[in-house]
Amino acid sequence: MTNDPAIAFRVTALEDNQPNGREPILGGILRKKAVWVDESLCIGCTYCSCVATNTFTMEPDNGRARAFRQDGDSTEVIQEAIDTCPVNCIDWVKFEDLDDLRSQLNAKTIRPLGLPPLR
Ligand code: SF4
Repeated sequence: MTNDPAIAFRVTALEDNQPNGREPILGGILRKKAVWVDESLCIGCTYCSCVATNTFTMEPDNGRARAFRQDGDSTEVIQEAIDTCPVNCIDWVKFEDLDDLRSQLNAKTIRPLGLPPLR
């Protein structure tokens, strides 16, 4: 059996939408900010995905990191992952900015890592 990193994109954030104890009504605290990876700058070192394993995964087509869920790790663990990034391409952003950031990223040409530079 092989590990398929693409499964991270199919997993729901909350299994069956069951309470997980983090809901404000149950005493939890919703994070007010989202985490975002600028994949155009990511160098694919995998540090963030090794630290915050429930937040970041390595996107299989281009070999760059992506935040696949926003509630998988504590703020402290995510911040630790951010701090490990050697190129500072992970940021806290507003949740409402995620769609625009994704659109801007999709408009860029991102080459798979490991290919020689264009001439
Ligand atoms: S730590 Fe930064 S450069 Fe390394 S994989 Fe994560 S986002 Fe990419």
